[in-house]
Order: sequence, then structure tokens, then C-alpha cells
Amino acid sequence: MIVVMKQSHTDEDIEKVKEKAIQQGHEPLVINGVERSVVAVSGKVNDDHRAVMKLLPNVSRVIPVGKPYKLASKNYKKKNSIIQIQNLTIGGDEIAIIAGPDSAETQEQTIETAMAAKDAGSNGLRGGAFKPRTSPYSFQGLGEDGLKMLKEASEITSLPLFSEIMDAQHLSMMEKYVDVLQIGARNMQNFKLLEAVGESELPVLLKRGMSATLDELLLASEYILSRGNENVMLCERGIRTYETATRNTFDINAIPFLKQNSHLPVIADPSHATGDNTLVEPVALAAIAAGADGLLIEIHPRPEEALCDGPQALLPSELETLISKASIVAKAVGRSL
Ligand code: PEP
Ligand code: MN
Repeated sequence: MIVVMKQSHTDEDIEKVKEKAIQQGHEPLVINGVERSVVAVSGKVNDDHRAVMKLLPNVSRVIPVGKPYKLASKNYKKKNSIIQIQNLTIGGDEIAIIAGPDSAETQEQTIETAMAAKDAGSNGLRGGAFKPRTSPYSFQGLGEDGLKMLKEASEITSLPLFSEIMDAQHLSMMEKYVDVLQIGARNMQNFKLLEAVGESELPVLLKRGMSATLDELLLASEYILSRGNENVMLCERGIRTYETATRNTFDINAIPFLKQNSHLPVIADPSHATGDNTLVEPVALAAIAAGADGLLIEIHPRPEEALCDGPQALLPSELETLISKASIVAKAVGRSL
């Protein structure tokens, strides 16, 4: 951090900054400019260290120098991380398509939807059994019964299964059924849950919280990485803004920002980002053009019958069209699909 002193500072004020830096375990270096003095403080500086420094007499500003996240950063690991989930490789040249229903509703619907996802060209299956609903009166998912349906659908299609975990106590049960643990937007800062999946052998898809900054998303990933689980994928699923015309606002900037600043694969979820089946395809194509490593897409054979998120569900035929257009965009940006 750089501690910028007010013009009115005294030598005693500088001494206090130096003392505090040493007390924090850091090394201070005083730089006297013509108009101002600054103290460059090096070491493992965190938010708390900076906050305390700001309180010292005649300190004008405290400027962070490094990034707050470490293990997720490109500085820590220059080469992009590639995650292997059975036959599915995420983070390499090929774009992953993970499609499926919002939720398992019945065994027939789950299997029918998974087979349609496969036929349309998907290489991963999504589907929820534990649903984080805004209202406790809405469909909450079928729980473990839903996971059984999803696992059967995953086995029939040979597509690896992505499903949301909502409770750390469900971890060992979920590990019996799923191939990737999804952390939903509403749980991005559920730190105990992040630590729990950090102990798992399974890869994690970490969704961006609807009001989370990209630094907060990366710091959330740090909770998982620092527990030893290196297989983390980040997911941009839209954020809440003043715009009400769509369910969320897809932050296209997030994709190249995350790719530039982190080695972790980045997945785009145009379904939750838009909430509107007519907007899913154009946003999906934009995400690939921007550098996304994969798409997470909701489909349903009869969206009007869906128990959750029907308005954003594509028909299987619409997914097929999306995938054929996406492969052209992928090729244009040096990727394959
Ligand atoms: C979902 O994937 O169905 C879901 C609930 O997503 P999010 O956490 O992004 O709202
Ligand atoms: Mn959904």
C-alpha cells in the first residue's frame, strides 16, 4: 500500500506510520516529494491494515497496490486453468455447452430434457434439486429425489451433471450424485459453504452474486482455492442494475476482465442474465465473442409447464440453433465448439 501524507504532516506523523507498518509485519519506505511525502509499505497487506493506517494523524489517503485476490490471479498462475470433468474439458480451446432444465420436476421431464440437451449438441447437463427461491412459497426443488433423477439422466446421456449445493451439510450426499457443485448467486458469499466445497474433490461452478463486484467474486473463489480445491469455474449470470426491462443485466465486461485477471475458466449464463428466452441466444453469442469458456443454458421441452424459470427456457430446437450459430462465433475468435 501507499500511505499518502497530508501536506501539513510532521516528522512525528511519518514515524507513527512507519511504526504501524512494522507492527503489522511490513516494511516501510519513506519517499519525500517536493509537495508531499508518501510511505510505501510492502508485505502481505490486507484491507484491515489499510483501514487502520488511514486513521493515523495527517494521513490523507491509503492506496492499495496489489490485487486483493491471489490464488485466482493471473500473477499467481500465468497459464489458464483447464478443468477436466469426465470427457468435458473446460478452459481449453473448446467452448462447453452445459444445458438442461432449471430443475428436476419429474423423472420423465428430467430424462427427456437431458436427452434433448445431448441431441442438440451439449456436453454438460445442468439441473437443480435444491432451489434458492426468493419466496418460501415457490417450488423449492425435489431435494435428493431430484438428484436421483438428474443422476439417472446424466448416466443415460453420459453428460456430467452440474447441480446447486445450498447447504454445507449436504456435501457428502451431493457428492454421490453430481459431477460439479454449483454455488448459486445468492450463496456467493456464504463463506462456510465456500469453505466446505473447497474441501471437496469435485469441481465448483461459482456464480457471481447479483450485487457482487468482480473483486468480490474473485475473493469468493479464493475461499475455495485456499482450501485446496483448484477446480473452480467463475460464472457471470447477470447483475442487478436500475434496468427493469430484463431480469438482470448481463455484464459483458466481466468476461474479458475475468479472463485477463484470472486463470480460472469463465462460464456465461445468458438464461438468468436475461430472464427472457428471446434474448438468450444473442447474449450467448456475445459472451462467446467476449471470450467465455462455456455457456450454462436452461432448456425445457414445454417451457409453459416449467415449475421454475419457464420464461427463460429455450426449446431444445432453439438450443440447437444457438449451438450452430455459436460454433461460427467460436471459430471467428479462434475457439471451437
Ligand atoms: C440456477 O442456475 O437455476 C440459479 C438459481 O441460478 P442463480 O444462482 O444464478 O440465480
Ligand atoms: Mn434457473
